[in-house]
Amino acid sequence: MPPRVQITVAKSAGFCPGVKNAIDKVLELSAQRQRTIYTLGPLIHNKQVIETLKEKNIFAVKSTEEIKEKGAILVIRAHGIPPEEEARIRALDLEVVDATCPLVKHVQKNIAAHAAKGYSTIIVGDADHAEVLGLMGYTAGRGYVVSGPEEVKKLPRLEKANIVAQTTQEADIFLAAAEEARKITGELAVSNTICNPTKLRQEETVQFSKRSDLVIVVGGKNSANTARLFQICERGARKAVHIEQEDELTPALFEGVKSIFITAGASTPTWMTDKVLEKVRELAGHEEAGLLDQVSFAWKLVITGSLYTALAATALTYVCMRLEGAPVSGKFLLMAGLFAFSLHMAHRAAEKGGAEPDRARRLLFITYKRASRVTSVACGALAIFLSAALGWEIFLAAAFFWAVGMLYPYKLPMGLERFANFPASKDFVTAFGWAFMCAYAPGLREGWALGNSTQLAVFFAFLLVFTRSVLFGVSHAHSDLITGRENFYKAAGPRLTYFTLASIFLLLSAILLTLKGNGWRPELASALLTGMLYYLALMLFFFFGRIPERVTAETLIDAQFLILAGLTYSVK
Ligand code: SF4
Repeated sequence: MPPRVQITVAKSAGFCPGVKNAIDKVLELSAQRQRTIYTLGPLIHNKQVIETLKEKNIFAVKSTEEIKEKGAILVIRAHGIPPEEEARIRALDLEVVDATCPLVKHVQKNIAAHAAKGYSTIIVGDADHAEVLGLMGYTAGRGYVVSGPEEVKKLPRLEKANIVAQTTQEADIFLAAAEEARKITGELAVSNTICNPTKLRQEETVQFSKRSDLVIVVGGKNSANTARLFQICERGARKAVHIEQEDELTPALFEGVKSIFITAGASTPTWMTDKVLEKVRELAGHEEAGLLDQVSFAWKLVITGSLYTALAATALTYVCMRLEGAPVSGKFLLMAGLFAFSLHMAHRAAEKGGAEPDRARRLLFITYKRASRVTSVACGALAIFLSAALGWEIFLAAAFFWAVGMLYPYKLPMGLERFANFPASKDFVTAFGWAFMCAYAPGLREGWALGNSTQLAVFFAFLLVFTRSVLFGVSHAHSDLITGRENFYKAAGPRLTYFTLASIFLLLSAILLTLKGNGWRPELASALLTGMLYYLALMLFFFFGRIPERVTAETLIDAQFLILAGLTYSVK
């Protein structure tokens, strides 16, 4: 068997904090205000992301003259703009929101402070890059832009100068330019303003380029920072390519290659890098890859096609029925599975998030779009039909939750859009729906709607499903998908998210421990407590940043229900 090809994906790949922050800011504005939002230039150069933003009423303009309506919101993107331009747009009848990256602001302040003391400014960067054009505005008219040390030699002699770097500049070029600048200045202040995310990205690239046979740089051909990353790779690696998307890769590129490093620019979404990784695995894998690829693709279809979700909902229903002491009913298991399948499938079909669909999504939601929709609606109808046989209250509630769930991803009528924009609405709606179908409905059927065991099961199901939904949100955000405040993680931020999840873990564990201590079905309580250890491990895994790509993340998250069902089944 030929040796396995080693593939490493840069830890630093994905949106930089400045780009992430600007995207989050416009999404938050779009959720809070019912007005059109304009950005001065595109937030990132990615067709899918721009299309998704347009659907949320967020448009990129080249100049304010393109904005016709009064009172519109205008966002300054992460690169920043010159102060005189900012003063001009603030005087217009627009609401200006500044999303300049704090690290770019730091450079602007540095330049302005030195300029106020009489220093000229030398900016090592690309003269026509938006960030550099913005920085020039802070130089009090005494600014020079150079691309590197060679251009410093052409500058006039300067008595006092401050040399700064464009935030995405290459460290070696900046230091060499500073050395040259010493020769033409009386007094030189060296301000290395390359931002930390860029430094980490470049250091990692240098380190891995040296030990890899092939380096693949993913990102827009018109992105300055990606181009710079590629230059670093070209110097250090045996072979390097710069691609925008996975179909630019050819089998010839991988001949004789044993180690591959994949890195990406600051505005390349993680999902795009994931797609390249998938293609690299396909083209560079060894003999077994054919079978592995097929298995992996089949699993992707199971996850993307919502079958795994249906299984998870069925497993949770089983756990809840055991918790309630209700007889295990096949009808409820089937109803919950169909309900979850129907809604998950409908959401998947409507989901965009700025990502280009992968192979599994293309097959299910583009090639077999109609069949997927019909299956989703048919399964929902079957779930409601089953609920009708279980009692009119169950039927009405199932129909209500199903209708809300089906409408949720679309533009809601009668101002209900505000409801969808409510922070964490998606996580709450999902948790309520599942808690009803998996826990409340079986109790209701037995006439225990207000019974302690039913309430316990509902509480348990609600919190576990809420956690599941929040972790899905974390995984989506980690993949740089365009998601907003409807996800708890986006609305609350990482700290509050992990604090909430840890609190849920402690609360559920404490309840189970108390029940066990009080002699309430101790074996069942012990089984569920053992299952909570998986919850804890999952939390820690995500907390320490080991968030896998979406399919693996979803596999791990929903596995908690299967584990709980297995442990519960083992108890008499
Ligand atoms: S590259 Fe650095 S400075 Fe520029 S937006 Fe990203 S984090 Fe901010």
